[in-house]
Amino acid sequence: MNSPIMTGEGLKKYFPAKGGVIKAVDEVDFEIQKGEVLGVVGESGSGKTTLGNMIMGVYPPTSGQIIFNGKPLPSRAKDRPVQMKREIQMVFQNPASSLNPKRSVKQALEVPLKVNRGGQSVRQRVYELLELVELPVEYADRYPEELGGGEKQLVAIARALATNPSLVVLDEPTSALDVSIQAKIINVLMRLKDKLGLTYVFITHNLSLMRNVSDRVMIMYLGKVREVAATEEFFRNPLHPYTRMLLSSIPVVTDAEEAAKPEKIQSMGEIAGALDLPPGCSFNPRCSHVMDVCKTVDPPLLEVAPQHWCDCHLYPKEFKPTPTA
Ligand code: SF4
Repeated sequence: MNSPIMTGEGLKKYFPAKGGVIKAVDEVDFEIQKGEVLGVVGESGSGKTTLGNMIMGVYPPTSGQIIFNGKPLPSRAKDRPVQMKREIQMVFQNPASSLNPKRSVKQALEVPLKVNRGGQSVRQRVYELLELVELPVEYADRYPEELGGGEKQLVAIARALATNPSLVVLDEPTSALDVSIQAKIINVLMRLKDKLGLTYVFITHNLSLMRNVSDRVMIMYLGKVREVAATEEFFRNPLHPYTRMLLSSIPVVTDAEEAAKPEKIQSMGEIAGALDLPPGCSFNPRCSHVMDVCKTVDPPLLEVAPQHWCDCHLYPKEFKPTPTA
């Protein structure tokens, strides 16, 4: 069994708000193996981006901790040793706002290189980074306004790679881009993962995309993890009613995918307000399987099939492996 590159233990992030407390992330545990793509999927308000920001040290957790390569990760980025900061990088959703319009591509890539040059000249490394993300080296002297959306995102990816990270948080890296260039960005990201041995935390609302990109899928809803499984098992045997609702409405390509798709489930209402969570299972106002117990008892996340976790009263039995002699 590989040791995980990162684990999150009992993570909570609560924000004080007028009229109460917003539980953006509430008791989240996760584990990421080295070289894995973990798809963190949820609607707006699910807590997935807050989780990414805790990994990056932008938001210190209210409680709980993150372990990285066997060591506790200081909760604030400013308290992290330089090497830890280099090892964990992020690519943001909107490349237009993540690049400084007054800096050329070379200048944007130089900033992280000043602390991590590895003996190369800066220009040499800038060219190498541009080639890695399949941009012409002449782009080094261009400014963001001279680049298309996809090209800007490739520069942002090159900048994230400048410090030779081992784990990259991808926060909706294609959702602000034209459909025509999304596939190109995904292809570059997956090629780089294999070439450089990267680990990705891939935050997205696009469950369909995860079928081809992730090794495991983790579904979040209103701050909690609802279901986690290896991608193949997840799409073959979705368990949580929320997951089944999401899956029933995504497009499929093959006959096998169509056969595995749950029957169309109408979404009942909208995601609850973060300040006004219903008691018990917070999905209960939208759930077509709701039972009395769901309105009072919040179900725990249990391993209900081998390596398949779900928090729902429909699956009350924790998986117990058969003892071997
Ligand atoms: Fe639905 Fe109850 Fe399961 Fe929540 S616990 S998803 S309300 S069946």
